[in-house]
Amino acid sequence: MKITDIECHILVAPELREDATSSSQDDIVVLVHTDEGITGIGETDTGPWLVKAAIEAPASHSMAMGLKDLLIGEDPFDTTALWEKVYTFTCMSGRRGAVICALGAIDMALWDIKGKALGLPCYKLLGGAHKDHIVPYASLQPHGDTVEEYGDSIVEWAKKAKAHGFTAGKMECTLDGPYRHLGLKGTDEQATEIVRACREAVGPDFTMMVDIQYRWFDAASCLRTVNNWADLDIFFLETPLQVDNLEGYEILSREAPMRIACGEWQNTRFEFIELMDKGGIQVAQPDVGRVGGLTEAMRVCHLAQDRGRLIVPHCWKTGIGIAASAHMALAVPNCPFIEFLPAELCDSPLRRELVNDPLVMEDGIVKLPEGPGLGIELNPEAMEKFAYK
Ligand SMILES: [Mg+2]
Repeated sequence: MKITDIECHILVAPELREDATSSSQDDIVVLVHTDEGITGIGETDTGPWLVKAAIEAPASHSMAMGLKDLLIGEDPFDTTALWEKVYTFTCMSGRRGAVICALGAIDMALWDIKGKALGLPCYKLLGGAHKDHIVPYASLQPHGDTVEEYGDSIVEWAKKAKAHGFTAGKMECTLDGPYRHLGLKGTDEQATEIVRACREAVGPDFTMMVDIQYRWFDAASCLRTVNNWADLDIFFLETPLQVDNLEGYEILSREAPMRIACGEWQNTRFEFIELMDKGGIQVAQPDVGRVGGLTEAMRVCHLAQDRGRLIVPHCWKTGIGIAASAHMALAVPNCPFIEFLPAELCDSPLRRELVNDPLVMEDGIVKLPEGPGLGIELNPEAMEKFAYK
């Protein structure tokens, strides 16, 4: 089998707000075509125009090639070899950032092709399922123009998620820091009140995570607040500091009264090795498209397993990335949850409409997907409706 073409489709939700901190408002869907009529589907979570450029750019020289040029004519089954080829011949322009995100979308599509060609779900090709179901956690993003409205909103979302059958949920609490919600400005004490109100709302029998979205500049400021959360049974605290502050992460991983989670932005296993070995994080959060695809995400999972760390993947795009996360989660023993919001609970029309979602949550769990490859189908009407023109 040979790769014959790679198509990039940029999709944009009609109500895109550049000041909102949510990457679910746009998408790049990458379709990899083959000479046997099988098409693989992938996506990645970063600026879609940058990814399109990385894929379609003409070659500059042998260290700065375009991805499409490197892959046309290759065998889509050669996933590891092709990963290395792209990494090597884009090293000057790539190694991290948009080029790796682009490679991630293509690699995801190659795994979809392999599964479709063999009639097997991707998790089988990744080594087989370690469990018979996945536990999804609800990723909850509140709204509100004031701190009070924002706090009330997240408590309502938490109750709604529990009523929907979720046994785990992540409360976003972004009252300050560079990505604070629509310019809100709340104090650390208000953040503590909100987190406490969430725990009271869901009760003790619910796994609760908190995403604080890079709120603090240094470890001491973080500890001053999160030491007050010791009695709230927080499963993990996500991205308390900027990702390059490895010394700060090392302090928090050692001293905070909960696990520290990070990795949603990271590209390649090399950045996860740093986060785990220098930053000491207990929960690694690869986003399959962004880390470099299923090939690279599986390497991260294995590196985390070797170190006794957990994987809880980041996923905030559409049913494409969610399916890829689910297959990865099944194929490793150290992934207790995936980030998942049923389409009907999601704000993003792309999440709701792009893919006929094969993953259905019942009684708080998602059963094994059985379709070949990623097991998803794109909705052609949504592809047309949201196409960036
Ligand atoms: Mg996050």
